[in-house]
Amino acid sequence: MPIPFPDDEPSRLTGFSTSTLDRLGDKRGDAALLSVLAERTDAGFVLLDRDRPVLAGLGAVRTAVHGRGAAAALSARLDQAVFLGLDGEQPLFAAALPPSDALPDGFEACDLRGLAMDGVLDARALSVLAEAKSLVDWHGRHGFCANCGTATRPSTGGWRRDCPACGAQHFPRTDPVVIMLAVDGDRCVMGRQARFPPGMYSCLAGFVEPGETIEDAVRREIGEEAGVPVGRVRYLASQPWPFPSSLMIGCLAEALGQTISMDSDELEDCRWFHRDEAAAMLERTHPEGLTAPMPFAIAHRILRAWVEAG
Ligand SMILES: [Zn+2]
Repeated sequence: MPIPFPDDEPSRLTGFSTSTLDRLGDKRGDAALLSVLAERTDAGFVLLDRDRPVLAGLGAVRTAVHGRGAAAALSARLDQAVFLGLDGEQPLFAAALPPSDALPDGFEACDLRGLAMDGVLDARALSVLAEAKSLVDWHGRHGFCANCGTATRPSTGGWRRDCPACGAQHFPRTDPVVIMLAVDGDRCVMGRQARFPPGMYSCLAGFVEPGETIEDAVRREIGEEAGVPVGRVRYLASQPWPFPSSLMIGCLAEALGQTISMDSDELEDCRWFHRDEAAAMLERTHPEGLTAPMPFAIAHRILRAWVEAG
């Protein structure tokens, strides 16, 4: 019996996951090629003001990809720009702006979560911003060798940092996070953190620890946060989560107990929800005004997959 491969990847339904850039991973060690691409008149630059992408334009007509002239005028360090990839024929790079209090008229630094919710940029553009934000953030935090403390230098188009003293090579981080719904028949466990919008509940989540499988991490996190014992675990989908550099790994988990014992350091509330109640939260028709996360979040997709499977 052959193992079936999915035709439609559920991960593609999540935000930040629809990049079509050709990253040229096998060519970005070619410094001459990258400088030719960076000098092209159609080269585009994504700019980050601290952790916020800079948009040009007003209202519904805005772009996060700037020409070389605009990028240079904003004082971006284009000599240290990271190569994101080819968008069709257009080479795209990302660079950090120097910290400043104000941008010139016509430019605005925007929170990426807000951009994902307000719909001004399309899904592909948001995916490019996610890649740019994680990479630029990594460079900002990893200027020194973790092995010997010497200042490191970017190489391979910004996809590596090399230590000139000890020769160590450092690569951009991706931190795996499990995010999961524990289910038992028609009921599921969701929790809320104090920082969530009022009335919103979501899947539980936590970082995978060294030495764990994804399934182990799911069982441990549900045990720690909700006190519910968990059996079998099934992977559903993943989502790049550039805050700053996580990969959310979405799973369903089989609850083996009913009693919730909440970790009140992590959660403000945690309880069982019936499938009908979860459906109403997704549709924003819950009689008590309770809600689930927005469609761009993988928690929404996990919950929806379970609701629709019923
Ligand atoms: Zn070193």
